[in-house]
Amino acid sequence: LASLYLGRIRQSDLNAYLHVDEELTLQQAKAADARLAGGDATALTGIPIAHKDIFVTRGWRSTAGSKMLENYVSPFDATVVERFNAAGTVTLGKLNCDEFAMGSSNENSYFGAVKNPWDKTAIPGGSSGGSAAAIAARLAPGATATDTGGSIRQPASLCGVTGIKPTYGRVSRFGMIAFASSLDQGGPMAQTAEDCALLLNAMAGFDERDSTSIPRADEDYTRDLNAPLTGLRIGVPREYFGAGLAADVEAAVRAALKEYEKLGATLVDISLPKTELSIPVYYVIAPAEASSNLSRFDGVRYGHRAKDYKDLSDMYCKTRAEGFGDEVKRRILVGAYVLSHGYYDAYYLQAQKIRRLIAQDFQQAFQSCDVIMGPVTPTVAWDLGAKADDPVANYLADIFTLSTSLAGLPGMSIPCGFGAGDKNGKRPVGLQLIGNYFNEAKLLNIAHQYQ
Ligand code: GLN
Repeated sequence: LASLYLGRIRQSDLNAYLHVDEELTLQQAKAADARLAGGDATALTGIPIAHKDIFVTRGWRSTAGSKMLENYVSPFDATVVERFNAAGTVTLGKLNCDEFAMGSSNENSYFGAVKNPWDKTAIPGGSSGGSAAAIAARLAPGATATDTGGSIRQPASLCGVTGIKPTYGRVSRFGMIAFASSLDQGGPMAQTAEDCALLLNAMAGFDERDSTSIPRADEDYTRDLNAPLTGLRIGVPREYFGAGLAADVEAAVRAALKEYEKLGATLVDISLPKTELSIPVYYVIAPAEASSNLSRFDGVRYGHRAKDYKDLSDMYCKTRAEGFGDEVKRRILVGAYVLSHGYYDAYYLQAQKIRRLIAQDFQQAFQSCDVIMGPVTPTVAWDLGAKADDPVANYLADIFTLSTSLAGLPGMSIPCGFGAGDKNGKRPVGLQLIGNYFNEAKLLNIAHQYQ
């Protein structure tokens, strides 16, 4: 199985993989074979998977899509990687992503954009564009990804695959290169909800090395997959169907909602009134946390160091000027600004207050429904390059995913059709499912019944 996937990866021109080491992969595959023969296998033993290059790995470089970490090899494995290794999965390599997971199109990767396998002139989405493209093109049956403001759901949607962002604190952040620590959450991507459930079984769980990891007992996320949906109340937020939603995306999402009605669910009109504010709130909080997290890249401890410098401060400046790309620099500047004396109250504190109100809106909505459904993105995948010079256009496309992240809720994207608006009608549309805290098993059940 590992050889089959390695062969496909060798032939692919999508730029989904950044680091492959066939020898190391085949070594792991041999060990898995021995384990299977020995009879102590798990459901995932011998299954090849690939990791977003934001999870540190021994053996493979860990770059976070940045020049800053171009040649960085971690001396330890992220908890997520450790847990998969313990389950016996075989690592195929590391997957491309936007630099430090900042982006919505994968065009911010220092190593170049990833192509959407459905239409190679389109973006795959981001920041986990490599993960989504790899699953869609059958370059891996399962992959890890991370979601800070949509980076699992949005690329899954644009590449027509399934992805779940668990409740904040479910999946360990230890060894996950930090972007915005109060939002970052790892999760799996695969073809189906059932596969995601199997992957999440290995991936999620309490970790004392992550201070925000939630001390709850491990769960079997496959346990409810086959439960019937009779009586399920689906909240449909008005604000997710307003101006700005492309007609082809709306049609595919509404058709999926109809299917759910046939499966025994009822639709409930709900309101998430602060949806629009999620964009300014997220783009204050995430850069603030990023500016702090990225201060560790100073040329002293790890990664890139500038060659010619006069003194220590010159070394810092040159190293960071050379090592970071434009979007990362933009966010460090915004973040440092909103945290600075005199502006902190006006921007950062204010954003934190609205963040709380956004979370309260969801709790209000969950009084009258069991799950919330809507689009993941306002449009299908756009053309490579179309918004590359327009950061705000990229930010606006995150409108339907940011508030879930700000509230720390679990969210999913499942494929629900194709758009009509592009040249050849081949660009996928995703349906978003948002659950209340710790309702991952229910989300996976609801997704599985549709698939
Ligand atoms: N597109 C959002 C951003 O650029 C979300 C990225 C993410 O979830 N990592 O920050």
